[in-house]
Amino acid sequence: MSSNPTLEDARALLTAAQRLLEPALDRTREITENGHAIDSHQVLTERVTYAATEERAARELLDTTVAWRDEGRGDEMMEITCAAAVADLVGSLRDRLAPAVDDLGIGDEALETAFPADTRGLLRRSAHESVFRAIGQHACATRGSNTTPLDEMMEQVRDAVREFAENEVMPEAERIHRTDALVPEEFISKMAELGYFGLAIPEKFGGSEMGNLAMILTTEELSRASLAAAGSLITRPEILTKALVQGGTDAQKSEWLPKIAAGEIMVGIAVTEPDIGSDVASVKCRATQREDGNWSINGPKAWCTFAGRADVLAVLARTDPDVSKAAKGLSLFIVPKDRFDGHSFEMTQPGGGRVVGKADATPGYRGMHSFTLNFEDYAVPADGLVGGEAGLGRGFYLQMAGFAAGRLQTGGRACGLAQAALEKTAEYVVDRLQFGVPLSDFQLTQYTVGRMAAKLAAARAITYAAAGAMDEDERAAAPLAAQAKLLACDVAVEVTQQGQLMHGGWGYAEEYPISRYVVDAQVLPIFEGVKPVLELKVIGRALTA
Ligand SMILES: Cc1cc2nc3c(=O)[nH]c(=O)nc-3n(C[C@H](O)[C@H](O)[C@H](O)COP(=O)(O)OP(=O)(O)OC[C@H]3O[C@@H](n4cnc5c(N)ncnc54)[C@H](O)[C@@H]3O)c2cc1C
Repeated sequence: MSSNPTLEDARALLTAAQRLLEPALDRTREITENGHAIDSHQVLTERVTYAATEERAARELLDTTVAWRDEGRGDEMMEITCAAAVADLVGSLRDRLAPAVDDLGIGDEALETAFPADTRGLLRRSAHESVFRAIGQHACATRGSNTTPLDEMMEQVRDAVREFAENEVMPEAERIHRTDALVPEEFISKMAELGYFGLAIPEKFGGSEMGNLAMILTTEELSRASLAAAGSLITRPEILTKALVQGGTDAQKSEWLPKIAAGEIMVGIAVTEPDIGSDVASVKCRATQREDGNWSINGPKAWCTFAGRADVLAVLARTDPDVSKAAKGLSLFIVPKDRFDGHSFEMTQPGGGRVVGKADATPGYRGMHSFTLNFEDYAVPADGLVGGEAGLGRGFYLQMAGFAAGRLQTGGRACGLAQAALEKTAEYVVDRLQFGVPLSDFQLTQYTVGRMAAKLAAARAITYAAAGAMDEDERAAAPLAAQAKLLACDVAVEVTQQGQLMHGGWGYAEEYPISRYVVDAQVLPIFEGVKPVLELKVIGRALTA
């Protein structure tokens, strides 16, 4: 039995990780020529990028937990969880970089310098099974409840959303998933009344400007009840909001932001195409200007979530026919449409323009429905071009600004889903008896639940840190938001799957929500930059530039 690790132990381990990561990052910059040659070193870059993300999560968790201790908040179990989570991340970082020390040109000496024998011993003690078992026992005893310390105002936000989500969303979540029903209108109208769509919108445009942490807490609690039926409703409006704030004209901001803040309009994001996914700069859907100044959209889009119910679509389209212009030939449009429920729709405009949509069936993330669309001479008013004349050719950059906000949101969505899995698993292993005792009495169950709790603590810490950083400087914080998305989504996938295993056969039954959490979590590393592309093209580029 090992004694419990302290925050000072965690600091020592973090310092060791930084001693290994820093030369690894320096060498990756040189090898990739400051990011220009990443594609010739993808595996190496991915490895170092992920290690840097683990270091960042460990650092944010440790700094936050130290601050709680200094302010007299938090408790001993939070400190132990922090220290164990840091040890887990540091161990993973070391194992990840070890096979690449030759490619990095830093050799075994770098490993030995960063992790001498006494540090290796500390790492083993801090991540000892007995530590995770203690965390697991505590999680079972408290049924995995989330009591992460917050300031008074944010605590009120979390409590209020939790109450709404538990009373209104949770009772409907299973039905919506199993019948693949559309998000109920009452969810949208009640969320609108409660101001959830305006949390990150400037006050002068009708929002409450409560900041990104309030938005994340809201998203997290809604996703704990249902990722698809409530937790993802704010994401699309948020993506368009950020694009508009960054590059919309004053008239566009005044027209659209108050409607988004009020929940009066729902938004769909139409970037992906059947043949174009990660290579966004190659988008083919065309927008051509008519003689009257209005635009015509022609071409297909894929995976446009909530496109049926949405009142407007943010469509990324090629305005410059010269394909060699790549990203510089793309512009962003606000495209109004009628509302439709169901899994397919067809809308014909008075002038003959058409858009048809058909939802693609998915194992999870049901409730919003993701559509393949086809536009045929679909008319968009001249003022639908985001940024007006100045927005021509800037669509890619505006869309990417929107995605940075979307990724932060998705970090929150992932934490909420992982939280739900932790709670349901803790409940189940306490209630279920095998061999005459609750599953929670078995050491391996305690260990597994303990690691689930520790991983979630780290994912939450990096996500909340990204929210704070986005409040300070959105552009500078974009890589951190991507790191939060990367880590939190992996944690959600792992925690939901571990939770399912802890449920045994019943974890595979639709009747238990853990089976829904598993299929919902699997989409998280795919959208807003599929994981390998997020690692290489967003985080990797930022870290090596
Ligand atoms: C349920 C769901 C909802 C979605 N909602 C929306 C939405 O609302 N709006 C929208 O526009 N899109 C949406 N998407 C689309 C999503 O953003 C894309 O699926 C994602 O960007 C990846 O594109 P792709 O599927 O074409 O994969 P691809 O780009 O074909 O990538 C597939 C795989 O190829 C590999 N790969 C690709 N490029 C590289 C590279 N350069 N280097 C190394 N490996 C590479 C990676 O392993 C990658 O995982 C949604 C998707 C899903 C599943």
